[in-house]
Amino acid sequence: MNNIAILCSGGDVSGMNPALKRFVEYAKEKELEPYFVYDGYEGLIDNKIEKATYSDVSGIITRGGTKIGSARSKRFMEVEYRKIAKENLDRLGINMLLVLGGDGSFRGVDIFYKEHGVKFCGIPSTIDNDINGTDYCLGVDSALNIIKTSIDAIRDTASSFSRVFVIETMGRDCGYLALTTHLTSGAELCLIPEMEYELQEYEEEFKKQIANGRRYFIAIVSEGIKQTSQEIANWFEKSIGIEARICVLGHIQRGGNPTVKDRLMAYKFVVNAIDALLEGREESVICYDRFGFNFKSIKEVTGKKKELDKELLSYL
Ligand code: ADP
Repeated sequence: MNNIAILCSGGDVSGMNPALKRFVEYAKEKELEPYFVYDGYEGLIDNKIEKATYSDVSGIITRGGTKIGSARSKRFMEVEYRKIAKENLDRLGINMLLVLGGDGSFRGVDIFYKEHGVKFCGIPSTIDNDINGTDYCLGVDSALNIIKTSIDAIRDTASSFSRVFVIETMGRDCGYLALTTHLTSGAELCLIPEMEYELQEYEEEFKKQIANGRRYFIAIVSEGIKQTSQEIANWFEKSIGIEARICVLGHIQRGGNPTVKDRLMAYKFVVNAIDALLEGREESVICYDRFGFNFKSIKEVTGKKKELDKELLSYL
């Protein structure tokens, strides 16, 4: 019998639990023995590897986060700990690995494959949607919906009090979350790292809007821009003359129950990834674009910074 394991590495996302559920079901359908590795590469080193059962995944499809935990692991960067990880897998006869994570996690598992031949398929999982080679990463839609709900709620209070709300989204140096929610939430201002800006260029227009009766502004700013949210808020108060508040959404964006889209994408990512391993694809990352699923090498995925969708950017 072929044994297969799954682990979550790096930041967790909403959609990992549906992926775990499908993993157990589909592995069994394919007559594979499914195993969970708890706490990412740390668990691989510490032998936290257990057979996964149907009851392990019962009821988890509705929950954000990941039932098997996720972690970063400094030790996995070192050759001697990867050797221990391999010995742990060997004892259980596991020679295939699904890794839910980002490009760092894929780099790690690729090195592991090159040293020890454990076949893998990486499933892009990050709310930032910043992995090169794929248009979609697991967790993005759930994060977008959390941000949307937050902005809708903030709008209620902003409009009542005649205030500016500067809402800061995650995304590191990728403005995807900010830009997408800007376009779908009717915000007045969106600042992202991919776009150069000078606040003074907005001054005349915003003052005119206030003179014409505008009571409030929603500004969505991505965490990676050149200024802090506080500086943006200060500019609104000093230059536009309207009271401003900051709302840093932070880790709330990673939580919440997975949306239908993330449940379905989790399902498809896992099925296609397991099929690819069984068909002999030994070292790849499963990617998704408008033509459907495809498989890319680690080099293609990690070698280049992902560019923001040009069409979305053109609307800014
Ligand atoms: P992400 O997968 O979200 O990009 P990180 O960059 O933090 O997250 O990487 C997650 C984990 O992947 C690291 O903590 C480490 O265990 C492993 N990893 C990353 N790069 C390497 C590498 N060059 N060699 C071995 N392991 C690595």
